[in-house]
Amino acid sequence: MKIAVIGAGIVGISTAYELARDGHSVTVFERNAAVAEEASFACGGNQSASLSQPMAFPAPPASSRLRGLFSDSGVTVRAGSSAGDLRWLLRWKTPSAAWTEALVCAQQLARYSLERQQSISTQESLVYEQSQGQLLLLRSEQALQVCQQKISVLNLHGAAARTLSPDEARKIEPALGADLPLHSAVHFPNDAVGNCRQFAHALKDQALALGVIFHFSTPVHALTPGSAIQVGTAALGAHDFDQVVVCAGTGAVSGLGNALKHLPLTRLWSYSLSAQIREPLNAPRSAVIDSHHRMSIHRIGNRVRVCGGAELGGAKLPNHAHTVKRLYQALQSHFPGAVDFGRGPQIWRGASVFSPDALPLLGPSAIPGIWLNLAHGHNGWSQACGAARLLADQIKGQPAALDTRNLQPGRFNF
Ligand SMILES: Cc1cc2nc3c(=O)[nH]c(=O)nc-3n(C[C@H](O)[C@H](O)[C@H](O)COP(=O)(O)OP(=O)(O)OC[C@H]3O[C@@H](n4cnc5c(N)ncnc54)[C@H](O)[C@@H]3O)c2cc1C
Repeated sequence: MKIAVIGAGIVGISTAYELARDGHSVTVFERNAAVAEEASFACGGNQSASLSQPMAFPAPPASSRLRGLFSDSGVTVRAGSSAGDLRWLLRWKTPSAAWTEALVCAQQLARYSLERQQSISTQESLVYEQSQGQLLLLRSEQALQVCQQKISVLNLHGAAARTLSPDEARKIEPALGADLPLHSAVHFPNDAVGNCRQFAHALKDQALALGVIFHFSTPVHALTPGSAIQVGTAALGAHDFDQVVVCAGTGAVSGLGNALKHLPLTRLWSYSLSAQIREPLNAPRSAVIDSHHRMSIHRIGNRVRVCGGAELGGAKLPNHAHTVKRLYQALQSHFPGAVDFGRGPQIWRGASVFSPDALPLLGPSAIPGIWLNLAHGHNGWSQACGAARLLADQIKGQPAALDTRNLQPGRFNF
């Protein structure tokens, strides 16, 4: 089949690769000049089936809805937040009784994705920065108890998480700041860290070798349904395809004409700070996640990257000074002396797209011939390879490796 993929972030590249492997004739349209220039650019490297990175998944439902509403979700509401954004926040703070089922679904998708990614990496000899294992840091008995609720569900489904004392945690990450208040930690040995942007570039080369055509600097402005789906661009005119897969991240709702404008999606902005390592012995070996500050810190090649912050609101807002300051502070307190701040640290603000239930939209849209692979929230890097394979299986009409019922876009009315 002749298939168009809209968007060349990590999700679009993975999708194009899988479709090309299945023998389809694939064309990718990307509005930027290169792959992974938006959410997949300087995102966290956590590939986490434990869903432990900040904002990966809502906290378990509180004992009462009111308690949930008044809990601190870590989300800042900034200027330009819409009524839809606030509705999403309400739902995030008060997850439904289906929380456990959704958590297991997200975990299985991420686990499958890690396996798929490792097998592609081996098969294609892909080279990108990576490390193994994640450590979740906890400050109090209460934090451990909240976390146990999630871990017991995850462990039932093979997470292999182990609760550690502070001394045991420091053996895994010996450079952790000596003054850091630490009650306990949870180690996820099967989670990984990898450089998302590097992987996307490496996979793009494999996709090219399989015959995928890339049109960069080519925004799609309309999708017109019919016996074929017409993909409209200003630069190249309109082209017909048998199927179209929308992997357009934040561009899905606003940029593609009327076809998808009612999708129930919310943008959430977060930050990363990347700084050159000065002394490798003082840097993290892999990744730590501070549940108290909702930040993740990991080594990514010769840099350390801290990610944190979660804000609703407009695209053009200036960086939130308080959040950026907290990223610097977290790096200094958790891994003192690890980086050289004099060598131009990079601050980046990126938007992830969330659905109302924090699971992606993966499958056919309401319009025949238009498929979605979208709304991976803060798990897009963790889920991309698995989601791409599952979607390619659906398009091919062959049984998928996982049950995708909870991921189908049709679970929402739009
Ligand atoms: C600070 C931060 C930290 C994060 N940390 C992690 C982490 O540790 N682990 C994890 O798993 N995830 C993490 N995430 C989330 C992850 O980055 C995203 O889920 C993932 O990158 C989404 O990939 P995507 O391909 O769907 O979107 P994108 O990378 O945004 O790609 C969408 C592409 O579509 C293109 N596009 C849009 N509209 C059009 C159009 N009309 N025509 C042509 N092209 C179009 C865009 O230009 C873009 O390139 C983090 C995100 C942020 C912001």
